[in-house]
Amino acid sequence: MAKALLIIDFQNDFTSGGALEVPGGDEIAGPVKRLAGRLDLVFATRDWHPPDHASFETEGGPWPVHCVQGTHGADFHPAIGEVELDAVVDVGRGREDEGYSGFEKSDLAQILRDGDVDEVYVCGLATDYCVRASAIDACAEGFEVTVVEDAIRGVEVNEGDSERALGEMRQAGARTATSDELLASAEAG
Ligand SMILES: [Zn+2]
Repeated sequence: MAKALLIIDFQNDFTSGGALEVPGGDEIAGPVKRLAGRLDLVFATRDWHPPDHASFETEGGPWPVHCVQGTHGADFHPAIGEVELDAVVDVGRGREDEGYSGFEKSDLAQILRDGDVDEVYVCGLATDYCVRASAIDACAEGFEVTVVEDAIRGVEVNEGDSERALGEMRQAGARTATSDELLASAEAG
């Protein structure tokens, strides 16, 4: 059985200078790269919207225009260039697809099963939206899920959203650990 790192939406629009900048989003680069070098498989999701996506303020939605397919903002953060990806999964491709979860209308669950994955380590952006939804769905799909606490950051539309999201992920069956703890146990194992 294999261990997979699942990097959620580590894209320019969610990091410094992006349209929907997540505070401290760039800071996850270090732990993400370290873990990617140590796990069997590495998968990344992209928020990948059409220009008229229903979540955009211009369309009456809650968010500024972000991660429009094929734009610089939708590109991966430069740190991903140093990571070898086994597959990329795009979500939120349809106008009405919310796309918070990497599993929504995607082949992700099948890709993980095809890779003989039983353990999924979730990191990326943002804790209170796409990381939350992806981790909860990964639990529902039957994977053993660990959320990497120092490799996620939240939007925090309301203060405490990230803490609440972590609580919900644990409730769904995910465990949480820091990258140092994971790397130390990999060393021991
Ligand atoms: Zn989006």
